[in-house]
Amino acid sequence: MNRFAIEQPPVVAIPVDGSEAPYPVRRVYCIGRNYAAHAIEMGHDPNREQPFFFQKNPDNLDPSGEFPYPPHSSEVHHEAELAVMLKSGGSNISIEQALDHVFGYAISLDMTRRDLQAEQKKLGRPWEIGKAFERSAPVGPVHPATRVGHLPEGRISLKVNGDLRQDGNLNQMIWKVPEIIAYLSEYFKLGAGDVILSGTPAGVSEVKRGDRLKAEIEGLGAISVNVV
Ligand code: MN
Repeated sequence: MNRFAIEQPPVVAIPVDGSEAPYPVRRVYCIGRNYAAHAIEMGHDPNREQPFFFQKNPDNLDPSGEFPYPPHSSEVHHEAELAVMLKSGGSNISIEQALDHVFGYAISLDMTRRDLQAEQKKLGRPWEIGKAFERSAPVGPVHPATRVGHLPEGRISLKVNGDLRQDGNLNQMIWKVPEIIAYLSEYFKLGAGDVILSGTPAGVSEVKRGDRLKAEIEGLGAISVNVV
């Protein structure tokens, strides 16, 4: 019997590579401008300043392999990112212990209504309308760290219809994954099910309906996403 006042919304669950048991999502944190070359292409100073974050919604994560072009935008960009899936958390986690909280990693896309984000930036308003829309974070299967290890380096790339658009290396992150976890945990009590999108390398560009995106991260394979 349903113990809630209304029908219980589904738990968002991402497939885990090599397992029947999926990964349940609690929160989604995204870091902005975490690769110098991408900060420069967006017109910002690439020097290390305090990191900043925005959030997507758990059910924005979408493992289906399809990305429906969203309404109210005529400039939607791809951002290929390493997603970090936590299995535990806490407050004030040290950089040294941060990776102990990582369950695994996945390839993800931080899809962005760039035209709307630019408007919100200009007005000094929050970014949700540009960032946290339906199915805005296509994601591949979670690869447990017990099998793939941690990923301080490795090529990260994205092709659109076979043309290479983004090409970087995880070692170019301004804030490394352990630093991101430690920093976030000073402001939020992190927990199991929390997902961190770790930023995108240079080369973001527009997508159109019918495009086929292929994102690759060394050690995690590739994901394909069709824009429909
Ligand atoms: Mn991003």
